[in-house]
Amino acid sequence: MHAFQFRQDRLYCEELSVESLARRYGTPLYIYSQLTLTRNFRRLDEAWASVRHLPCYAVKANSNLAILRLMADLGSGFDVVSGGELRRVMAAGGSAHRCVFAGVAKTEEEIGLALRAGIHCFNIESEAELDRVDRLAGDLGLTAPVAVRVNPNIAARTHAKITTGTYENKFGIALDLAESVYERAARKKNLWLRGLQMHIGSQLTQVKPFEDAARRIAPLAATLKRKYGIEFLDIGGGLGIVYQDALASGDPFWWQSPQGRRMLTPEQYAARLLPILEPLGLRILLEPGRFITGNAGILVTKVEYVKRTGRKTFVIVDAAMTELIRPAFYDAYHEIVPVVRRRRRVEPCDVVGGVCESADYFCKDRPLPIPQPDELLAILSAGAYGSVMASNYNSRPLAAEVLVHGRRSALVRRRQPVEAIWQWENTAPWQD
Ligand SMILES: *Cc1c(COP(=O)(O)O)cnc(C)c1O
Repeated sequence: MHAFQFRQDRLYCEELSVESLARRYGTPLYIYSQLTLTRNFRRLDEAWASVRHLPCYAVKANSNLAILRLMADLGSGFDVVSGGELRRVMAAGGSAHRCVFAGVAKTEEEIGLALRAGIHCFNIESEAELDRVDRLAGDLGLTAPVAVRVNPNIAARTHAKITTGTYENKFGIALDLAESVYERAARKKNLWLRGLQMHIGSQLTQVKPFEDAARRIAPLAATLKRKYGIEFLDIGGGLGIVYQDALASGDPFWWQSPQGRRMLTPEQYAARLLPILEPLGLRILLEPGRFITGNAGILVTKVEYVKRTGRKTFVIVDAAMTELIRPAFYDAYHEIVPVVRRRRRVEPCDVVGGVCESADYFCKDRPLPIPQPDELLAILSAGAYGSVMASNYNSRPLAAEVLVHGRRSALVRRRQPVEAIWQWENTAPWQD
């Protein structure tokens, strides 16, 4: 169960009212619940308790240092996709020994950093990368632990922009080529064939694509274990969350959609995959991102104006696509609720930000109680792929982030001072 609930007519995060947090820290404001983050992690971890496993939290979903520290304290490893993310994990007190390093474009500098830090494994995305990692490890006199990311050519049945496991995508190495790539890799002097990896997409709400992918990859994993003694199979992330009616359901996992389809729970996910994976006798790595942080965060915004054009009603708020780009980018649905419920007329409206783009909206033609200026709205399920995708477009400062723990709150990223936006810029000498 997540910790954002109404008490009478006020929205709370754990033991604190969202209104009081917004008053104290200003808006737009991301608020994260430590209780929800902890429960989400434990719930997934416990679902896999019957096998040796390591959840590696996907840092790209939300990379705030306080969240990384919490994950490290809970025993999580990390899935990083850049040298910057690896540095962040270490800055938060996490260990490179528990990090897997993914991404199609790893630079020499990033590979060197990861090798020196003692990365758990490179998830290799191409043969050229394999050659580069081998050469750089040789230069440093080190052995590079590697896993090949295979592309099982499974349609994840999610949004096209977050599908990764088909031959149309840039990720991984085709399943039928994987064995020959391992054969080549085994002849290289500076590589340690440590595992096998896949990741088929994000926000999957059905177990079937995961199951199909696991069935497809299991025979290869068994062969690689026999031939090269690989230790682990990394099945990636992608477990979906509830975006619609997330608040009403109380429990964000056991939820009946309007179509009567049940959402995928971590228990179901593990129960359906374990019979396929357990016989392999490999350590199972998981890379959950959205599942951990998605419903553990909200974005709080203040209404600036209500604009009625005759055709439409626009609720114009102080957050924008610069704080949450998912509606513009993925046509994503986010539930929007008033922070304090009042008697208001319900009308279809568009909730929009102030950025000069028509794609800058949080919802369109959605029946909502029409608020008045200065009232607060909460955009739910904003904990994953929210703050990490923020930008300074329109010279808007990055918003503040707060972590709540019971009755306590801490500012875990202060609001960016506006001058900081151009602090690395200057005029050219001939303009003086
Ligand atoms: C993005 C990503 C994840 C996390 O995906 P979620 O849908 O947030 O769980 C895991 N592994 C890889 C390789 C990724 O690119």
